[in-house]
Amino acid sequence: MGGGDSMSAAIDLHDLTVTYERRPAVHHVNGRFAAGSLTAIVGPNGAGKSTLIKAIAGTLKPAVGRVDRGALATRHIGYLPQAAEIDRSFPLSVADTVMMGAWRSIGAFRGVTRKHAEQAKEALLAVGLEGFEQRSISSLSSGQFQRVLFARLLLQDASVILLDEPFTAIDARTTRDLLKLISTWHGQGRTVIAVLHDIDQVRQHFPSTLLLARETIAWGNTADILHPDNLRRAKNMAEHWSPDAQACEVDQENTL
Ligand code: ADP
Ligand code: MG
Repeated sequence: MGGGDSMSAAIDLHDLTVTYERRPAVHHVNGRFAAGSLTAIVGPNGAGKSTLIKAIAGTLKPAVGRVDRGALATRHIGYLPQAAEIDRSFPLSVADTVMMGAWRSIGAFRGVTRKHAEQAKEALLAVGLEGFEQRSISSLSSGQFQRVLFARLLLQDASVILLDEPFTAIDARTTRDLLKLISTWHGQGRTVIAVLHDIDQVRQHFPSTLLLARETIAWGNTADILHPDNLRRAKNMAEHWSPDAQACEVDQENTL
């Protein structure tokens, strides 16, 4: 897609509950990621952050409630999974990996055109990997590989971009460069949502924050949300979780 008013899209969560074998990982979450907003999702380990991102991306179906993406098809949502979920032992070149961003919108069987190869080259230049086209992805450092995945997102040209811990175990220079790219996307009116752990980074670069601990702890302007009281509450909720928490019965939502 790209260009025009299609660049802006809001995501609305209505009573969103996502479960694994009926146990809720995300529990009755309501709210809106405004069109063109730049939001950090913050919360303790196991808080349901990745689960929420996957529900927005459409790879997990809600048990209760829904994700309203307006007119946006899920293939127009750019999604970068947590590094641990990506297998890069597969013998793919950097160029092919980047061009997969375009395949999603043009269909895998129409073939790669000169235009796509040119776009991939430009995207690699934009992420500081000029000339890396023919390298195998398995030969890259984790920082370089993350740059490749951002280049792929550039080709996908999505109006909503979801990033799950994009800077975990990534070097400072790569983080700085990719934060700039996120800021460019924000300036272009794209809706960007990123799961992050570095609170200072969130304060500096992300105007909105959703603090999640299975339920919404707080959601709004970052400066208000990252209040010590809220952070303590989120941590406290995480410590009270049990792996055999009760199944979601919807009407038992206050029995955590
Ligand atoms: P976060 O990304 O905030 O660390 P997750 O969304 O990955 O949290 O996980 C939330 C909860 O759901 C955790 O208790 C986790 O163990 C559980 N969970 C995540 N994925 C699965 C799965 N595929 N099957 C069963 N439980 C899962
Ligand atoms: Mg996660």
